Amino acid sequence: MKRQAIVAANWKMNGSLPLIKEMISGLNSVKLAENVNVVVCPSTPFLSAFALNAKNENLQANIHLGAQNVSEHKSGAYTGEVSTDMLNEVFVNYVIVGHSERRSIYKETSTQVAHKVKAVLNAGLTPILCIGESENERTSEQTDTVLASQLQPVIDVIGIEKFIDVVIAYEPVWAIGTGKTASPEMAQATHLFIRQFLANANELIANKVPLLYGGSVNAANCEELFAQTDIDGGLIGGASLKVDEFKIICSSAKGS
Ligand code: PEP
Repeated sequence: MKRQAIVAANWKMNGSLPLIKEMISGLNSVKLAENVNVVVCPSTPFLSAFALNAKNENLQANIHLGAQNVSEHKSGAYTGEVSTDMLNEVFVNYVIVGHSERRSIYKETSTQVAHKVKAVLNAGLTPILCIGESENERTSEQTDTVLASQLQPVIDVIGIEKFIDVVIAYEPVWAIGTGKTASPEMAQATHLFIRQFLANANELIANKVPLLYGGSVNAANCEELFAQTDIDGGLIGGASLKVDEFKIICSSAKGS
């Protein structure tokens, strides 16, 4: 089954204008395999600068701009929030939705996340829907139940057919920013569970959804992770702030 591969950079609340420029010129020289797309998600104040610099530097077409979050509301009295229309105006193509930090720190529920996914799709943008279990949930063998409980509300709100335009990032919470990566076998087994869960609703769609792995991916472990059948790239935090390391990760992705 042919699926696009995606390597996405989640800068979180890090980065600067100089890093935007450095990343754009670094990525312009990276050799990407066919069917691989790269998405850089800087903080909101840097989105326009990325778009402008990317245009000026003639950035290769398969490198895109992403946002780290968005409001589920169209517009109005939501101080501090950013709408999908605003993201469209600054040439954003992808939006990370439901990152574990948004779920745990800002108490986003799976239903709210589902409505954000819907808003992103309605605006013609691509959501990168993050799901993942905590360490406790993994050790008490609740991983599948947790992932199902995060996916089902999205299926209920948007319908399985719309998943054709959704990217899913499986990010075990215990692996994010900890240096503890899931083994390639563990990550593959969980990705397979996710694909089968979607396949219960629609097999054709399930086989087309890119499933990214996230959680302490780096230049040393990316190749083995990306070699797994159901891992179609990665969502990269810490290592995406280092241009040379991120380039290695991007060039190790293979479109399947
Ligand atoms: C993330 O924040 O999505 C992430 C995967 O972070 P890190 O790569 O630093 O674990």
